[in-house]
Amino acid sequence: MIPFRVKRLLLPIWNGGHHLAWRLGEYAGAIRHRRFDRCTVCGRWGPKLYRRWVIRPELERRSGVAPSAVEAWARKESCDCPFCGAKLRARRMAEVLLSLYPLGDPPAPAPSLRDWVASPEARALRVAEVNEIEGLHTFLLLLPRLSYSEFRDDVAPGAVVGGVRSEHLERLTYPDASFDLILSSETLEHVPDLTAALSEIHRVLRPGGCHIFTVPLLPGVPQTFPRAVRLADGSIEHLATLVSHPGGDWGYPVFTEFGADLPEILRRSGFEVDLWFGPVRDDDVCQVFSCRKPTEPCSPQ
Ligand SMILES: [Zn+2]
Repeated sequence: MIPFRVKRLLLPIWNGGHHLAWRLGEYAGAIRHRRFDRCTVCGRWGPKLYRRWVIRPELERRSGVAPSAVEAWARKESCDCPFCGAKLRARRMAEVLLSLYPLGDPPAPAPSLRDWVASPEARALRVAEVNEIEGLHTFLLLLPRLSYSEFRDDVAPGAVVGGVRSEHLERLTYPDASFDLILSSETLEHVPDLTAALSEIHRVLRPGGCHIFTVPLLPGVPQTFPRAVRLADGSIEHLATLVSHPGGDWGYPVFTEFGADLPEILRRSGFEVDLWFGPVRDDDVCQVFSCRKPTEPCSPQ
């Protein structure tokens, strides 16, 4: 029997070895499946590390996702760049941003977000990052006109606590036409009043400004539906199986499950809509939306 003191010494070695073996397995997977490319966030070329376990079995079961689509979902939430940590959805958001905001004359997409944030064109933009976008956040912080906010239940919208502004998408405290560009990722599904959130985003964008975002999209959901509603007393009524995404103390409940009709919902809110990397398929659920506020006022249909 191994004495306790020896066990205590061996434990970090065992854990370190385990971690190394795990990481080597991820690299081997990248080689086997040829998951190598240049990262649109940091610009470095390298493997993309797939992690099936990021979709927990409980979340998978409650979401009702077909087994064939779970791997696509895991790819969206992983395939991390080993250098900057950006997962697939962050890298695709960066790709859309670089395409929509090209640099130079004649205009061409910057090679990476790292290059883009250093350009005079990007530094002149008024950008809102609504909730931290993992993978993009570090680079976005380099923009001098960035307004980064987090939703906090316990802080009044507009207040700044610990250097971070609190904002609620249903009632933003920014004046009209405050931003050239708004970025959010996997946030809209957690807002109880989607219509109010879209209306607020539209209000604070300048005409011609753009909202680039991702939301969870699953194949086989033709129509957007509410999973939960917030009642007048602030409590939550669940209309379908409760789905919570990781985060906070108890996870964040999903209020809206988005379906294939989302582009139409966005158009009704007054945006010109583009769906990138779409449509949703069993083997690819990582789509990016760009919603432009028209330069000419138009009445929502
Ligand atoms: Zn990277």
